[in-house]
Amino acid sequence: MSIPFLAKPHQTQPRILKWAAEHPELIRLDSVRQYVGFDVYAVTVTDTSVPDEKKTCCLFTQPHAHEPATTAGMMDFLSQVIEGRHLDGSPADLPREEILRNLLLSIIPDANPDGRSRSPELYWDGSKWSNDEFWYTMRGIDPRTLKMWERFDEWDLREQSPRPLTIGIVYEQVGPFEYVEPNRSHRSAYFRLIHHLLGQRRYHYLLDLHQTEFERSPHNCMVILPILQPELPEAIRSTNQAWGEEIVAAWAASGASPVPEVAPLNYTGVQAEYFRRSWRDIVRVTSKVTVEIQNNNQRTPPQEQVRLMDVAMRVTVERALRGGAA
Ligand SMILES: [Zn+2]
Repeated sequence: MSIPFLAKPHQTQPRILKWAAEHPELIRLDSVRQYVGFDVYAVTVTDTSVPDEKKTCCLFTQPHAHEPATTAGMMDFLSQVIEGRHLDGSPADLPREEILRNLLLSIIPDANPDGRSRSPELYWDGSKWSNDEFWYTMRGIDPRTLKMWERFDEWDLREQSPRPLTIGIVYEQVGPFEYVEPNRSHRSAYFRLIHHLLGQRRYHYLLDLHQTEFERSPHNCMVILPILQPELPEAIRSTNQAWGEEIVAAWAASGASPVPEVAPLNYTGVQAEYFRRSWRDIVRVTSKVTVEIQNNNQRTPPQEQVRLMDVAMRVTVERALRGGAA
């Protein structure tokens, strides 16, 4: 099976609009517009002839432009749920009818098309770019070191001294001189769209899809719980833990090498503060886990990156169908 890897805006957006036009009985689109002009879509899929009140609601998101297999995975998952087949035309074995009747899925396949459109690669397979080179593409080039520039939640080009030599693709431009990292600032299209959806209904599950390099690690995937996990309400906390462990077990059973422990994000200092501030209100009422799948390494080729994304989404949907929501 070789699933088309759809990750650039010119690939994803026409497909999303075509699905919405062909399946109005299943799809509703919400969108926000980025400063540079791209529309960011949330694709909500459910059987609209069944009232929403009894459905379990799942939100799948991704904030990072340098992590394209998240998008490719969600595009193929959408294809399976909407059309009953993968993007390569092969039949999907998901319980599609049951999903459409019982669940409401909102999927944001690409929350930063500004960054993604500036990416020099469609995917990162570890064959061309060292991790150093990959990282300065992500955050921009520091003129002092010619390596990776800073990681900020929000920053203004006019206030930087020295200024980065390039604008990293992880950043979203939100004003003439202003940039944000999407999952650390409420000014991002990512958070604006998530807040818009949360204003419409309560979501029981929020699966945030990411990729990381797993340097000096034998593993190639992991689940991370919210940094606020220890202080969350017990029902949310136990759901996060059990759900995360189910994803890890499914990856292991399918031949991947997950980090066995499911633990909260271990950031400290200012990065931790970005997360506490940005996520506090959401994670107290919505079960949320983050998945990280290896990027830019030949141990996990792009098709495998997509497959591991699919496993995580399947586990979530199967759990939601069993009624395991907090
Ligand atoms: Zn990420």
